[in-house]
Amino acid sequence: MSAVMVAKKVTRKWEKLPGKNTFCCDGRVMMARQKGVFYLTLFLIVGTCALFFAFECPYLAINLSPAIPVVAVVLFLFVVAMLLRTSFSDPGVLPRALPEEATFIEMEIEAANGNVPAGQRPPPRIRNVQINSQIVKLKYCYTCKIFRPPRASHCSICDNCVERFDHHCPWVGNCVGKRNYRYFYLFTLSLSLLTIFIFSFAIVHVVMRSVDSGFVVVCFFTLWSVVGLTGFHTYLISLNQTTNEDIKGSWSGKNRIQNPYSHRNIMKNCCEVLCGPAYPSVLDRRGLMLERSLHPANPTAAAAQVGKNNNAEPQPTERKAPCPPDEHAPDDANPNVTASTEDVSYNEKSPSPNQETLPPPQDPSPSLPEDNTDAALDKEKVH
Ligand SMILES: [Zn+2]
Ligand SMILES: [Zn+2]
Repeated sequence: MSAVMVAKKVTRKWEKLPGKNTFCCDGRVMMARQKGVFYLTLFLIVGTCALFFAFECPYLAINLSPAIPVVAVVLFLFVVAMLLRTSFSDPGVLPRALPEEATFIEMEIEAANGNVPAGQRPPPRIRNVQINSQIVKLKYCYTCKIFRPPRASHCSICDNCVERFDHHCPWVGNCVGKRNYRYFYLFTLSLSLLTIFIFSFAIVHVVMRSVDSGFVVVCFFTLWSVVGLTGFHTYLISLNQTTNEDIKGSWSGKNRIQNPYSHRNIMKNCCEVLCGPAYPSVLDRRGLMLERSLHPANPTAAAAQVGKNNNAEPQPTERKAPCPPDEHAPDDANPNVTASTEDVSYNEKSPSPNQETLPPPQDPSPSLPEDNTDAALDKEKVH
């Protein structure tokens, strides 16, 4: 141990997150990597509104009502705010299992499956849980090394498991999931209203001045796609269903399984989806961590060194066993497994209750985040 030089560097956790996301504003903003279509969305909304304000509004404000541009501005600002809220937030990404936790889960699965003879396919990695007297299968994610909680799915574009995954939306440049679905819905709803508003007054303008306008035709096509999308999501919300479940036919067709999340009441479903509690991000993107780099800088040698130290002598920071998944808690217990990959939070946001009770796990890889119990950093801890 004495031969190894330990250099410490304070970084934020978002810098080490393994998914295919991009971050800016020091981790406050989180998006998918492909953002081209998002810029197109922004351009189309701003462009259409700019044309409306420039060519339609002056005439309508003078000859019809000055309230028209005011309403249009308010709607426009709301649409942009909801779009940015959807695009820039964490959709509900589940942290991947730490190497120790992954090893533990793998061992547990192998023990349960027994020895699979060579050449035979191992049984699928699933766990059954009961939700509102329906059996729901939890699938194992080979990338994130976790049993996905109910309704979670792995987004291949962002390379993350996302809670209550709805779909990956290139138009907003982000996944739509548990944490941003309602903002996504409000975005489509307000955009529908804005499009209807602009379309209606563009027609009024045409009729009043008896002029031809290509603008009306553009609005007409936009109208159907946006209003159609809003209608589809209104239907999904009334059933408490996600786009992902609808496409897969999880609660219909040959499966004949009733949706266990539905309250069988449209109002209750709408209230839960749109007005239910807002969930804190479990990623703790802006949390501080100490990165240790061991010298010699050769990562393989350093990893081997850490492995040896692990067995031989106590580490400078306290090392605790990974939090095993609780088989006797047949519910969303698996989020606990994932939540346990969280370090003690140094974030401005207070962590969720189960994060606080879990031991801060350690990462044996020197290139990966290392937890820290440094007293200096403890002072920065805000609850
Ligand atoms: Zn995954
Ligand atoms: Zn995605």
